[in-house]
Amino acid sequence: MAHVAIIGAGFVGLSSAYWLIRDGHQVTLYDPAGAAGGASFGNAGTFANYACIPVNNPTVFRDLPHYLLSGSSPLRLRWGYLPQLAPWLLGFLRSSTTARYTQSATALATLLGRAQEGYTDLIAQADLSGFIRPRECLYLYSSLSAFHASLPTLELRRKLGVQTRILDKAEICALEPSLQALFERGALFEGSWHLSDPSAFLRVLQSWLFGQGLQIRATPVLTLKPHVHGVVLTTPEGSAQHDFVALCAGAHSGALAAQCGDRVPLEAERGYHLMYPGSSALISRPVGWAERGFYMTPMAQGLRVAGTVELAGLGSAKHQGLLDLLHFSAQKALPQLGEPTAPWLGFRPTLPDGLPVLGRSTASARVLYAFGHQHIGLTLGGLSGMVVADQVAGRESVMDLTPFAASRF
Ligand SMILES: Cc1cc2nc3c(=O)[nH]c(=O)nc-3n(C[C@H](O)[C@H](O)[C@H](O)COP(=O)(O)OP(=O)(O)OC[C@H]3O[C@@H](n4cnc5c(N)ncnc54)[C@H](O)[C@@H]3O)c2cc1C
Repeated sequence: MAHVAIIGAGFVGLSSAYWLIRDGHQVTLYDPAGAAGGASFGNAGTFANYACIPVNNPTVFRDLPHYLLSGSSPLRLRWGYLPQLAPWLLGFLRSSTTARYTQSATALATLLGRAQEGYTDLIAQADLSGFIRPRECLYLYSSLSAFHASLPTLELRRKLGVQTRILDKAEICALEPSLQALFERGALFEGSWHLSDPSAFLRVLQSWLFGQGLQIRATPVLTLKPHVHGVVLTTPEGSAQHDFVALCAGAHSGALAAQCGDRVPLEAERGYHLMYPGSSALISRPVGWAERGFYMTPMAQGLRVAGTVELAGLGSAKHQGLLDLLHFSAQKALPQLGEPTAPWLGFRPTLPDGLPVLGRSTASARVLYAFGHQHIGLTLGGLSGMVVADQVAGRESVMDLTPFAASRF
């Protein structure tokens, strides 16, 4: 049995706690914000096992000027942040060639193909099946030209094992009759599902883990210092030694990884959500609008409209233009929607090649990384937790981790 510290109580950290406790380890979880205090709180809730196409793909060279300059674009860049963003942005563009993007998509498909394994046992043991909604996600295109432009990515998904059913306008209307008849084509992704309440899922998981012996410290980890027999971490309350540390701090992982010998170009893809209480019954499944870059997901507290990407670092100021775009676009698809409640901003942790960092640190085999899951951290949280537990146990990992090594940068 080892003493293991986990930094971060999102989908990745809490799933790691599950798999480590299952192996019989003593686990301490550090997070000042508590369960689901980060990006895991307000996401669109989709188990998106089809999402193997990273944002960096060859179309960015053609589409980026439009995305950066158009008022209806779901992507915004705060220009004052450009000097800090430049290394990440250059890496992102370098990763957008056909060859590199195909490599990333293939590596992501390997993870996504096994993502369900990370959750099946966890959901059963912690009695979380009440949060699962087994309705496939529907991704919509409001113009035939956008649909035709996406055909190469749909074909790549198919080659990588994603089962997709293409729907025409009449089939979309029959499936989701409350939607305006705006959508020319849709892709229904077989085997996907969603959560009715991502943050409650994690809170219930955390309290179940607490009953299994999880220790919880509501404090930030300030420093990490590996040595031969363990890792010393410091918090504002003092220092503690653990046999292993799993770094699962999402978009905030960069500084701690640097202390362990790895300078990773981690950035935040900021995303927003709006909640519409009482509107969940309007649609029966997560519905994405491709050109507008968001999902609408029926959840326990109402309809959640979540998405957009803003490149502006980790500050807390919200972009009203993106929130207006979300509201306007959602009402265009569902005119029955009223006014939303308070908006939420979250930070997707993203590396330039769209792949997470999974594996051991350069400085020490006792520091394990699991961060950088971009738009699919809910989906990959369970599997990432399995990978962390395999490394602590010294078991061979369920897959080749080479594409995800921190040293690739
Ligand atoms: C709008 C939006 C929609 C999304 N939709 C989906 C979706 O439908 N499906 C999907 O799979 N993914 C989705 N995502 C992405 C997903 O939410 C993230 O990838 C995922 O939540 C990342 O989980 P995590 O555990 O790595 O990080 P987080 O959930 O961000 O957790 C990191 C935790 O670390 C803590 N922390 C930070 N620094 C420290 C420190 N020094 N010491 C201790 N603790 C620390 C933070 O408080 C935080 O709680 C979406 C994201 C956004 C923003």
